[in-house]
Parts: sequence; C-alpha cells; structure tokens
Amino acid sequence: MTTPAKLPELFGCLVFNEDTMRERLSSASYKAWKQCITDGTPLSISIANEIAEAMKQWAVERGCTHYTHWFQPMTGVTAEKHDSFITPAGGGKIMMEFSGSELVRGEPDASSFPSGGLRATFEARGYTAWDPTCFAFIKDGSLCIPTVFCSYSGEALDKKTPLLRSMDEVSRQAIRILRLFGDTETKRVTAQVGPEQEYFLVDKEQYARRRDLRMCGRTLFGARPPKSQELEDHYFGAIRSRVAAYMKDLDAELWKLGVLSKTKHNEVAPCQHEMAPIYADANTSCDHNQLAMEMMKKVAERHGLVCLLHEKPFAGISGSGKHNNWSLSTDTGRNLFRPGSTPSQNARFLLFLAAFLKGVDEYQDFLRATVAFAGNDHRLGAHEAPPAVISVFLGDDLNAVVDSIIQGTAHQDAGKRSLRIGVDVLPSIPQDNTDRNRTSPMAFTGNKFEFRMLGASQSVAGPNIALNTIMAEELEQFADILEKSENFQEDLQKLIRKTFSDHQHIIFNGNGYDEAWLQEAEKRGLCNLPATPDALPAYLAPKNLELFTKHGIYTQQEMTARGEIHIENYSTVITIEANTMVDMIRHDILPAVSAYAGDLCQRIRNKTACAMPCRYETSTAAELCRLTDDLQAACEKLAEDTARRPTEPRAAMHYCRDVLVTDMAAARKLADRLEVITDGKYWPFPTYSEMLYYL
Ligand code: ADP
Ligand code: MG
Repeated sequence: MTTPAKLPELFGCLVFNEDTMRERLSSASYKAWKQCITDGTPLSISIANEIAEAMKQWAVERGCTHYTHWFQPMTGVTAEKHDSFITPAGGGKIMMEFSGSELVRGEPDASSFPSGGLRATFEARGYTAWDPTCFAFIKDGSLCIPTVFCSYSGEALDKKTPLLRSMDEVSRQAIRILRLFGDTETKRVTAQVGPEQEYFLVDKEQYARRRDLRMCGRTLFGARPPKSQELEDHYFGAIRSRVAAYMKDLDAELWKLGVLSKTKHNEVAPCQHEMAPIYADANTSCDHNQLAMEMMKKVAERHGLVCLLHEKPFAGISGSGKHNNWSLSTDTGRNLFRPGSTPSQNARFLLFLAAFLKGVDEYQDFLRATVAFAGNDHRLGAHEAPPAVISVFLGDDLNAVVDSIIQGTAHQDAGKRSLRIGVDVLPSIPQDNTDRNRTSPMAFTGNKFEFRMLGASQSVAGPNIALNTIMAEELEQFADILEKSENFQEDLQKLIRKTFSDHQHIIFNGNGYDEAWLQEAEKRGLCNLPATPDALPAYLAPKNLELFTKHGIYTQQEMTARGEIHIENYSTVITIEANTMVDMIRHDILPAVSAYAGDLCQRIRNKTACAMPCRYETSTAAELCRLTDDLQAACEKLAEDTARRPTEPRAAMHYCRDVLVTDMAAARKLADRLEVITDGKYWPFPTYSEMLYYL
C-alpha cells in the first residue's frame, strides 16, 4: 500500500491541514483562521462559510458524502453523528452543500451521553462547536470536524472543553513567570503530550468464542498457562510477520490521518505491543490518541485479529498502560523542563520543577483519581505498573541538586558534565538526566515528566487537564509572590528552597514495587488509594473543587457531575462483569464439566466391569463433581448478590468492590481449577495458552 519514498505525500493526505487551507482559502480567510487560532479572535460567518465550502469541496473530491462533528463525550471514546451533504436542487436533483453554520455548530441529542446529573438541571439538548485549533479529517467517507460538546446552557459535557480551558490557563500563568525572567517574546506556552499506547492482539475467531472478552474486554476466567512471560523473550523481540503486517497497515492509516506514529515494538507479555507517536500539543495529542485507539481496532479486523485495549485482558500477565509524557514549551521553541545553558535558564528550570513538585504533592489524591476506573484497578500496585501511591522520581543527579539546595551546601557533581547556574547559592545542574526507573508513577526523564499510571483504554484528557491546572495554580502562586518582590534573585532562591523542603517527601527514587515503599509512603503521609472507590471521592474534595473552579476549568456542577459519572461507571462495569460471569458459568462451564464428569463415570463403570484399576478417573471425577457443586453455589451467590446491589450510586460503588469483586474472585478460583483438570476437548472456550500463543 505504501512505499517509504511516498511517505511524505501519504502523511496527512486525509487531513484538511494548514497547507491545504493555505492552498484552498482566500488569503483573507486563511489569515482570519490563523488569527483565530493564535489570538482566539472569533471567525465571522462569511469566513466560516468560505472555510466550510473549501472543506466540502476537498472532502467530496476524496469521495466523501457525509460530514460529522466529532466529539469526546464522557464515555471516554469519541462520538459522531453523520449528515450527508445532499440538499434538494429542484427537479428531483440534489446538490452537495455544507454551510459555515453547519461547520461551526451542531445540535446532537445529548440525552444518551453520560452527564452526571447536568441533564436533570438543564435541557437534554447539547451542542457541538467547532474547535478550529484541530484540523478536520476524513474517516470512512465522512468529513470529521473536531468539536467541543456542551449542554445548551454551556456546561461542558465532554473532555475537550476543559482540556482547552486548562491549556489556556497554564499558558497564562507560565507567561507571568517567564516575564519575570525577562522573556518578553513568548506569547503562548503549550502543554505537550506524547502518549505511549500499549495493546494486545488476539485471534478474531478465538475472541469470538469468549463471551467475557466480547462483553467486558477482558477474560474473567483462565488458568495460568505453562509459559507466560517468565523468559522475557517477547519484550522488544522480533516482530512476527502477521503482527508486522498489522503494524505496517496501522502506521499507514495513522500517517494518512496526520498522526505522527513513530515507535513500535513488542511489549513484555506475549501478544502485547506498543505504539508511540511523536509528541504534540495536548489537544492534538488527545484527538490523535483517540484516533489511534480507534484505528488499532479497525485495522486489526482486516488482519483477522482483535485489538484489546483493556488494562488487564489476562490475569497473571502484564496489563496495558499508557505512559503520558508531559512538558511545557514556549512558542519560541523552548522546553521549560529542560535545564538550560545559562544561569538564568537554570534558575527558571528549578522554579518550574519546584512548582511541579508542589503541585503533585498537594493534589496527589486528584491525580490518582484521574486514573481511577475499574479496568485500571487490576494494574496499579500489581507489580507491573506503578503503585497506587503518587510520588515523583527525579533520578540521582537531579535529586542531589535538590538536596543541596535544601541543605544550602555546594553541589558535588561527581565529575559529571554539569551546568553552572551562576546565581551563587543555586548549584549546577547535571545535563544528562536519563536515569530510568520504570516503577515510578511520575518520572522526570530529562526534559519531561512521564505519568505512568494511565490505563491503556482511557482518554488522556483527564490526567492532562489535572497536570495543566495544577501547574497553573502553583505558577500563579509563585508569580503572585515574585511579581511583588523587591529583590528578585534573593526571593527566587528562597522560594525554590522553601518549596523543595516543604515538598521533598513527594520525591522517591527507589523501587516503587517494593512493599517497604508503601510503609515508608505511609510514614511520609502520602495518600495510598488502592482502588477506584478509594480514589474517586477526590472529585468532591473541597480543595480540589476550589482548584478547578478558581481557574475556570470546571464549574462546581461540572466537576461534581464528572465525579458522579465515574462513580456510576465503576458500578456499571463491575455489574456487567458479574452478570457475564454468571452467564458463562451457567451456560458454558457447568454444562461442559458436567458432561466430562458424566463421561468419566461411564469409563469408571466400563473399567470396573472389566475389573480394571481406575484411580485416575475416580479421583478426577470426584474432584470435578465437588468443584462443580462449589462453583454452582458460588455462581448463585454472585447472582443473588448482584441482584441485591444498592441503588444509591456511592453505596453501589462500595458494594461492588466489597461484595461483587470478592464473589467473582471466589468463583473464578473454582472455575480455573476446573479448567486445569478438565479434558481440553470439553472446555467450552479457548484457554490462555491458546489465546496467547496463537501465532
Ligand atoms: P520510553 O518507552 O523510553 O518511555 P518512548 O520513546 O517510547 O520512550 O516514548 C517517549 C514519548 O515521549 C514519545 O511519545 C515522545 O514523543 C514523547 N516526548 C519526548 N519529548 C517530549 C516532551 N518534551 N514533551 C512531551 N512528550 C515528549
Ligand atoms: Mg515510557
């Protein structure tokens, strides 16, 4: 389909990007659009009409018949509602039309999307509004227009609106700080995000035979295979041809959509892989990650595969996360988390670092809540992903700098290449900061922070809204102090030192998987919120509400609504899993093992009639029958407990975790043992070995 020589033409060929706009719009309209995205000036309807017409022509030339506003409701996935371009032209003929008002505004029915109660207060109708900072693109014969999604009275019902608000806010506050350092040029500071996306590929036919995968995206049963990832022979291993063909196809689809897919490799678990794009601004990155997840699934089908994005498709095998690399950069091309080459740049770096540490410390509970959902509970703290306790990894070199600032001693840089930062009291900063610690939830990796707690299936919007807003808050506090200062250098140093000492306890450079760390973290007073029901109340904590309302990211109602949506989602997911489990035990497992036990009994009768020994058959049949009865009892208990679930959302959430999750674990244990002793011919669905080693 593609040859590398053609890649530059292939890249972005389905995107109505800046070049296309320059080519197809009048220079006045192009300028107006540019000004709209740089300065936020609104577009007039006549210009919107011209852009819409150009978009339509471009799309129709490429075979499009429809357009859709493409948005990101609180479901965590994208939504679209397609309208064709056709308009009656008289005499039974049609014309292809698309107006400026259709481009900038749509009115989908909002009543079927989660609104967390906003719907009860406001009208059910929602509207979508064009986000001109993101390019329109073509998908499946439709022109897709990235939009925000709000209630009729302007409440955000999506993930893009608050993300855009948070990007504006962190820019505003960061610029105040830059001005203090004499930067008069920077007009905009942009949050940059590079999400590394993990996924599993399984065979489509095997997938179809597992109701748990189809209903829940993960297996609810499955005994440990004889071999899983102990040999570590899969990580970065040679990519097998069926997967290689898939990855090649995926890259081509992503490139056409302008997604900068860069890196691909095998991951730790068998049939687990990763794709990482080149980072982009948080808004584009969020759109692109949604597109990437969608394409991963779509392309898999063409290859007879199914792409699983669930955080834990197979128990006992590493699950899938999404590493969210985050930094701040200026429109003059400077990364604010890169230690610079002049004393002033290094002081600035330390100030941004201090703001980050303070922010993560003060809002650790909320950051934890942004990655809290049922699927991710299987990973966090399970020794394959960071623990559920937030801390920041700085690496030995940078940590030594922070230490020496706190202690007011000269920094010994042990002969490493380092930068002087002139301002006397502040030590020099090592330039090379590539220490890696895969166990840290938030690692400084040279010029960015890598937030490693995200689950593979989740939108990156939530965590980045939090990072941006937290950073905005701390930068604002710093700017308020420093703008009033009469001795900037001195007050700057004092502020950096005080912040480092006050928040040093959030820094942890050791092994996050170690049991001892959890005890240490508790001594330090850090939050340990092991599961979703522990973490979600952070949405309603007064200090967090205050943070987001103060910065205009969420209104109180928007934020409360979001908390409600996550709480309900948790109970819904667990309940679906419980129901699926009951269904599979009743319809698949019990009949299969009973048939096998019956068969064994027949063999025992035959052997006994011939006076033959039959210890194997007898003992197996006995264990089978015992386990079968126990499993049936466990299944009925699960069914009854599910039926008894309280209706009040918070009570339901806790009940799901305390009762249903426990019931499911008990039932699974029995079923997995049954799988081990049952003749493979009888087992009703593909086993872990079959699913993980299909290639
Ligand atoms: P690793 O697997 O070692 O963590 P990868 O190279 O797979 O690293 O992924 C790193 C990700 O970080 C990529 O998506 C990359 O584009 C992104 N990234 C690099 N620099 C920055 C930055 N300054 N800000 C945000 N993301 C960045
Ligand atoms: Mg990484």
